[in-house]
Amino acid sequence: METQTDVLIIGGGVIGICAAYYLAKQDVDVTVIEKGDICSGSSYGNAGVLAFDHGTPTAAPGVLSQGLRWLLDAGSPFYIKPRLDPDLIRWLWHFRAACNEAPMRRAIPVQLALGRRSAELFAELHSEHDLDDDGYEQRGRLFLYRTPAGLAHGQEELALSQEYGVEGQQLSADEARKRLPVVTEDLAGAIFYPGYAQILPGRFVQNLAALVQKMGVRVMDHTEVIHMERGGRTINRVTTTRGDFAAGEVVLAAGAWSPVIARMVGVRLLIQAAKGYSITAKRPDPGPEIALSLAEAKVAVTPMAEFLRFSSTLEMAHMDTRINQRRVAATRKAFHEFLPGIEVIEELELWRGFRPMSPDSLPMIGRTRKLHNLVMATGHGMLGLTQGPITGKLVAQIVSGQTPEFDLGPFDPDRFG
Ligand SMILES: Cc1cc2nc3c(=O)[nH]c(=O)nc-3n(C[C@H](O)[C@H](O)[C@H](O)COP(=O)(O)OP(=O)(O)OC[C@H]3O[C@@H](n4cnc5c(N)ncnc54)[C@H](O)[C@@H]3O)c2cc1C
Repeated sequence: METQTDVLIIGGGVIGICAAYYLAKQDVDVTVIEKGDICSGSSYGNAGVLAFDHGTPTAAPGVLSQGLRWLLDAGSPFYIKPRLDPDLIRWLWHFRAACNEAPMRRAIPVQLALGRRSAELFAELHSEHDLDDDGYEQRGRLFLYRTPAGLAHGQEELALSQEYGVEGQQLSADEARKRLPVVTEDLAGAIFYPGYAQILPGRFVQNLAALVQKMGVRVMDHTEVIHMERGGRTINRVTTTRGDFAAGEVVLAAGAWSPVIARMVGVRLLIQAAKGYSITAKRPDPGPEIALSLAEAKVAVTPMAEFLRFSSTLEMAHMDTRINQRRVAATRKAFHEFLPGIEVIEELELWRGFRPMSPDSLPMIGRTRKLHNLVMATGHGMLGLTQGPITGKLVAQIVSGQTPEFDLGPFDPDRFG
């Protein structure tokens, strides 16, 4: 059995479903295939922060030395499992190069442009369609600092961001407590950034998947790509656990799994999986109404629809799905230390997922020179939810031969050689 389709999207996460939406709007014949349930990858349990006005990349000066210090701490939020893997070594080589002032300053305006355009597209999606039960709210985000050193670092980040037009407002500990009575007495200060929103990510993607089906997209879950047949510079056939597909264009939107699939057609993608955890609880009352960052602990706390989610850690240990209880315990501890006013928390779900990390923190969007009918839409790292709609729109523009609304140079999938 072979299914013909104009565009075959591999991956039913936020990126694949957003691409399907913008392609369907252009009346393109689209099929999405997903190996599990729709939105069962990293797009399901992430922190739900729409960081529209966040430009600073993960790769930044000082990150490597901080990371090395954290390597010795089993409860730390950052960990790279040492292993002799040529892909990891190559990835770290490029990551090290990106952890410098000049590449960081090149990345900031690019990330901001993606985020700000996505802000417009999230607003447009919510005004055009009935997606309201996903808890989308543009309320900003409050960064909380318990130590003077942490606050000083936050102030440096604010000053850097302000150079690029990001708005942020410093608050004293008392002012922060007025806004957020559940926060600790033991607070050094806070910074409020208005350019953030919050959302229940799984519900957003599932609602959008239902919508694209109504628009005529074939959405096939439990359909796993197991092989791709290449003839010269063309992908001729995609074989899955539920039959073969012949497509004019293939869009690779498989998140942290993308390198495995790219390798089936001889393309090496420099993406490492970075595991993170989240705990979803019933939304407490009293509780925060806006997204928080417990800055020194690197924990995100996000109210979303009827839930409150707190999430943390970045563990680069390949696709190891094990849950490190010490790191989860450190996340819970930080939550209670920063927010002692929330006495009882009713936990509903503990989750882990893999961020698809590129070495320079920028996504890979566009065609690879090695194959003329493969479009990459992956490598979004910490910001894939935020950048979902703009990525989807760019994919639709690329596939339909329009001039993309962004210069795709910084997102070139071949940029690491
Ligand atoms: C703890 C944590 C917190 C985060 N917080 C935020 C946040 O607050 N804001 C933000 O913007 N981003 C956040 N992120 C990042 C964000 O979740 C990701 O960047 C984003 O979800 C990536 O989307 P995706 O569609 O590329 O990947 P995914 O959602 O992982 O989707 C890829 C899909 O491909 C499918 N697939 C894989 N292999 C195959 C195959 N062989 N055949 C068919 N299908 C296949 C997978 O099953 C999966 O569903 C966070 C991530 C984590 C882990």
